[in-house]
Amino acid sequence: PIDLNHLADEYLRLAYQGLRAKDKSFNATLVTDFAANLPQVEAIGPDLGRVLLNLFSNGFYAVRQRQLRGEAGYAPTVSVSTARQGDEVEIRVRDNGMGIPEAVRQKIFQPFFTTKPSGEGTGLGLSLSYDIVTKGHSGSITVNSQEGKYTEFLISLPIHQAG
Ligand code: ADP
Ligand code: MG
Repeated sequence: PIDLNHLADEYLRLAYQGLRAKDKSFNATLVTDFAANLPQVEAIGPDLGRVLLNLFSNGFYAVRQRQLRGEAGYAPTVSVSTARQGDEVEIRVRDNGMGIPEAVRQKIFQPFFTTKPSGEGTGLGLSLSYDIVTKGHSGSITVNSQEGKYTEFLISLPIHQAG
């Protein structure tokens, strides 16, 4: 059993610091809204951490891309929140980056699909995440996005039942 708040907090900072180490000019605001008394979920292996790390990396990449366009007053932000919803725990990862065009959105969970230049993305993060969340953890992962505005991923996982 693991605490998603703790895992998300740790990996969000890890992803941000990792990026900043490579790219000193990159700055983003991190917003967290972690639900108090969040029930634990059952983690099978270390994979949930990798799922989160990929979502955070994708989010930072997206805000970085939008920042590079030089829009006046643009404030790159990546937000993470958790909540209990009935028998499930939800985690939302939202960025105000470049967003995902409709035609691209249909392909993002396919293996090897990437819009990033070679060397910057393998296109495996979301397809692996899809399997880890749905097959490995009996959960779900969905996306909402508006091109040029935001992207939000939502993962729902069953609450860990003791005993
Ligand atoms: P990779 O990051 O290696 O490209 P992923 O499977 O993690 O592979 O993501 C696949 C594609 O989905 C990305 O190349 C990008 O086009 C799109 N994508 C994923 N997350 C975001 C996001 N937060 N904002 C915009 N596009 C995204
Ligand atoms: Mg990725």
